[in-house]
Amino acid sequence: MSLKGRSAIVTGSTSGIGHAIARALAAAGANVVVNGLGEEKDIERAIGAVAAHGTRVLFDGANMLRHNQIADMIAKAEKELGAVDILVNNAGIQHVAPVEEFPIEQWDAIIAIGLTAAFHTTRAAVPGMKRRKWGRIINICSAHSLRASPFKSAYVSAKHGLAGFTKTVALELAEMGITSNAISPGFVWTPLVEKQIPDLAKSENISEEAAKRLVLTRQPTNRFVTADEVAALAVYLAGEEASSITGANYTIDGGWTAQ
Ligand code: NAD
Repeated sequence: MSLKGRSAIVTGSTSGIGHAIARALAAAGANVVVNGLGEEKDIERAIGAVAAHGTRVLFDGANMLRHNQIADMIAKAEKELGAVDILVNNAGIQHVAPVEEFPIEQWDAIIAIGLTAAFHTTRAAVPGMKRRKWGRIINICSAHSLRASPFKSAYVSAKHGLAGFTKTVALELAEMGITSNAISPGFVWTPLVEKQIPDLAKSENISEEAAKRLVLTRQPTNRFVTADEVAALAVYLAGEEASSITGANYTIDGGWTAQ
């Protein structure tokens, strides 16, 4: 699969799944804009790992809570790389709490980063894709775009919303050489999941090791999905061979949603 000559933006690619996708896109030949938050040294390391594949790599620290910064990021990528051919909306955060205790600012942030930011990036990137008659929009949803879990009201709402947004955009752009698809992973071992383990252990009064096993009871394969497995699917959807795939929501969840 060659993505030589293509340019991609992966939001939230300083860590976890987004980072694996940015590396895999670069390995396939694409120029990549790395985006995300974090400590300077971690960001430097993330950029270095993507740049190791020899394509052009830029960093843009646009905060997905700020629509002006998102618009500037797309404009900068178009100016410096010539295009945004592949847009991967991946940035996301999590907070777990009963609905009546859910902190309002956490609800707002989860919806803003996990759903509204994808609207802002897509809105800004689509005109260029239309001009070039080619584009790939890949939204990283979750098994939680198809199933609910208690105490994850904001996350489940954001992911169900993003799955609907994916389909709507697919229909609008179907005849323009632009596809819009979702990838819905099950549990992937990344900082986002790791952070939930101590809380789960506390609420269930079990060890952290037992909490990890508890998480996996959702996944019939009884193992975490790897970020590289998700990245391989993203690269496939970004390629020429995936031209007829649009409006799809691919699960990669070890059988979770088959139940
Ligand atoms: P992660 O915490 O490792 O990475 C999240 C990334 O988003 C980081 O690069 C972070 O800097 C960035 N980010 C967070 N807030 C941001 C903001 N305001 N502006 C810009 N960037 C911001 O998490 P992950 O597990 O790799 O999650 C990536 C995506 O995959 C998320 O959308 C998540 O919902 C989804 N997902 C994860 C899992 C899982 O089990 N890990 C499962 C299904 C879906």
